[in-house]
Amino acid sequence: ESDRLKTAFLHNISHEIRTPMNAIVGFTSLMNSPDLSEETRKQYIDIVYQSSSQLLSIITDIVDISNIESGHSRINISNISINKVLKNIFKQYTYRASYANLNFKYSTGLEDNISVIACDETKLMQVLSNLLDNAFKFTKYGSVEFGYSVVPCFLEFYVKDSGIGIPIEFFDRIFDRFYQVEDPSVRHGGTGLGLSICKAYVEQMGGKIWLESKPGEGTTFYFSVPYIPNPDELPRGTTEDESEVKPITSGSIILVAEDDDINYLLLKEIVESMGLSTMRARNGVEAVDKAIQLRETDLILMDIKMPIMDGFEATAKIKSLRPVIKIIAITAYTQDSDKEKIMLSGFSDYVSKPVDRNKLVKLLMKYLATTK
Ligand code: ADP
Repeated sequence: ESDRLKTAFLHNISHEIRTPMNAIVGFTSLMNSPDLSEETRKQYIDIVYQSSSQLLSIITDIVDISNIESGHSRINISNISINKVLKNIFKQYTYRASYANLNFKYSTGLEDNISVIACDETKLMQVLSNLLDNAFKFTKYGSVEFGYSVVPCFLEFYVKDSGIGIPIEFFDRIFDRFYQVEDPSVRHGGTGLGLSICKAYVEQMGGKIWLESKPGEGTTFYFSVPYIPNPDELPRGTTEDESEVKPITSGSIILVAEDDDINYLLLKEIVESMGLSTMRARNGVEAVDKAIQLRETDLILMDIKMPIMDGFEATAKIKSLRPVIKIIAITAYTQDSDKEKIMLSGFSDYVSKPVDRNKLVKLLMKYLATTK
């Protein structure tokens, strides 16, 4: 059975990668056509963007499941404002809901001012996102909602949809790796990994996951996590907050240490669109040399994996010479342990590849404003 599922998975994964790749390659070449209207071009760009995100989530799922199976996945607890986490997730999915013409809402079980709890924010967000992705995928009409309530010692989350539903005989098996209920000919997309990742994460956090469903009526997934209230401490997490944007020092120079030309071009475009200028280093040694010329109001974007000298070594050298300079890591390593290592190695912050323009702009604003 396990072999059969693995073969089905490999078939499936090839299809799952080729479908978005096909859209990316196809629509990128169409975009070159000179007589496209602005609206059509925008539509093509949206398709390429969505297909790329789809590819990225497949990679994330595969890496996550390998980490779980090799025992490398660890819990990383911090104080988070759970209501803020839900609000951010809600914002992320509103476009998808209105595009699909579905009612979409969320509810919280704690007042905002007492909603700080100790929890693994990344894993919690991943579980909710996986369940919401499924809810949207399997719901054509009606509604999707999510939220949580407080029960003794636990927070009980739910993600409810009015979609196709799941027959009771599949309730256990859908949590197995690679398992998908639907006939492969009625493809909804997906790898069959989402729910097994959810189950592993929820159990790691000390909770349980279960569901109620009726074919044709809809499905509600529930999961619990221990309720550890933490009213005294401020939330630390990395979720977006609507803190005001401070003006930044114009004329700051951003040293971009990046060996790959295309990745450099992307960073340069983003930085220069903010009215800042860039300087390039192609490896860690060049980065150290050029960092000596920087002023305290300047900043460094440092790729981690570079030839001759990597980003960790370069950062250690630069920090010993210029302790005040802010350095932001740009990294394709996305495991919690990698992020921890980065934050302990002298970097002020990090951005994961592929770089999200809005995130990078926000970080640059934050550090350039505070280095003034
Ligand atoms: P994927 O969605 O990538 O196929 P999952 O592990 O997330 O993998 O889900 C496994 C299967 O469970 C899905 O293929 C689908 O058959 C079923 N399923 C999950 N969520 C829902 C839902 N909300 N409504 C109907 N079926 C669902």
